[in-house]
Amino acid sequence: MLSINVVALAYLIASVFIILALKGLSSPESARRGNLLGMVGMALAIGVTLQLDEVRNYGWIFAALAVGGVIGGVVARRISMTAMPQLIAFMHSLVGLAAVLIAISAMLNPEGYGIADAAGGLPVANRIELFLGSFIGMITFSASLIAFGKLQGMISGRPLVFAGQHPLNLMLGAVMIGAGLFFCSSGAGAPFFLMLAIALVLGVLLIVPIGGADMPVIVSMLNSYSGWAAAGIGFTLNNTMLIIAGALVGSSGAILSYIMCKAMNRSLIHVLLGGFGGDAPAAAGAKSAVDRPVKAGSAEDAAFLLKNARSVLVVPGYGLAVARAQHALKEMVDLLLKQGVKVRFAIHPVAGRMPGHMNVLLAEADVPYDLVHEMDEINSEFADTDVALVIGANDVTNPAAKTDPTSPIYGMPVLDVDRAQHLLFIKRSLSPGYAGLDNDLFYRDNTMMIFSDAKKACELLVQALD
Ligand code: NDP
Repeated sequence: MLSINVVALAYLIASVFIILALKGLSSPESARRGNLLGMVGMALAIGVTLQLDEVRNYGWIFAALAVGGVIGGVVARRISMTAMPQLIAFMHSLVGLAAVLIAISAMLNPEGYGIADAAGGLPVANRIELFLGSFIGMITFSASLIAFGKLQGMISGRPLVFAGQHPLNLMLGAVMIGAGLFFCSSGAGAPFFLMLAIALVLGVLLIVPIGGADMPVIVSMLNSYSGWAAAGIGFTLNNTMLIIAGALVGSSGAILSYIMCKAMNRSLIHVLLGGFGGDAPAAAGAKSAVDRPVKAGSAEDAAFLLKNARSVLVVPGYGLAVARAQHALKEMVDLLLKQGVKVRFAIHPVAGRMPGHMNVLLAEADVPYDLVHEMDEINSEFADTDVALVIGANDVTNPAAKTDPTSPIYGMPVLDVDRAQHLLFIKRSLSPGYAGLDNDLFYRDNTMMIFSDAKKACELLVQALD
């Protein structure tokens, strides 16, 4: 058994590793290293915790580690990038549940956790920590499960709104907090379990009115909640590592939610009140796809336009990810570069289904980082671009966000592809994107639609260019 000072030092080192991991994860170039540092930090934290005096039953711990490790390993290998948000939502539900289960067992057996007072009950300070950690954990648990169901398509992504929803939530919230405060003052079990039951229902009610397109923000917010729940439990267990790691998860999740809201020009309050996305109707004023003519072309037509261009800006979106077209796209870009065309990528901060989604896909296909530009640094260059090639993206290019105050995405910053001389859209149909909105750009004179699966189109383009 290591001395208290050595344990504290090891936890401090593990925390530094985890902070460095977060820093590394902020850029695709350093993400692998960041991941590795995080794994080292976590292994150190777990190793040191396992040798603590309080840890007695290794059988259960190793059995759980083995089962969890195998399931986690298999799922991580099999999961596709487009299904990441739901996987993350599911994992947050487990973090929330873990916090609740620890809180329940600490509540029922404070002596087992070394936190009992002289009379064998829970001291008030621990009751407060348990109250905070467990209600946040329970809301995280049920809300994350609903988010998982919506993202996985098991539950409709449509916002579920009913009369009196907000007053009902408010009332439940007040009763939950009242029960929690009663538990804090009395230490009785009944108000504790009542508080947990209400938190379970509240987690569901808070998420059902939120539309599909806002789900990634919610997942990131739940990430933050799960961190705070873990930190709350860390106080009860008197474990500094859990407090630090929980606080890091809590604050980084909160920052990510803020960044996403900013990229969509939406306030967190608007997201929480719900309504955007899901199966939203087409923007007011947008005529139906049926009665508007479009100019459709073949891969050969597109190749002709591309190889005669001076500069091309590629805008990847969700469809590129679903089609796993990044490798074929890279091949196509290499051919264009060889033929002297200046090609770069323009990445919208929420393109795809998660921030960073497109960067990860392009890095996977070995696209050089210096060709990949964030929206802020590249948006002004569309005006000086011959061809904007949009692959499997829609909402992130929709000019309704700039011009139509009635559009649900009005105010969301979008890529100015409409300022390029020619527009090429690769997608399978005129179907809308995630926000359910028609895109006026499909019908412009300088737009050519290549109706195809993104991967197939890129492969045909490679053949045509070669
Ligand atoms: P969109 O969902 O707007 O558009 C994707 C397009 O891809 C669809 O129109 C679809 O058209 C096309 N597509 C689907 N499968 C294929 C395929 N196999 N081959 C070719 N095309 C395909 O994606 P964007 O990336 O433009 O926008 C992301 C959306 O997610 C936005 O609504 C954004 O607001 C939202 N969002 C993102 C968040 C984030 O953090 N990332 C947060 C919240 C919301 P078709 O069916 O015709 O092929």
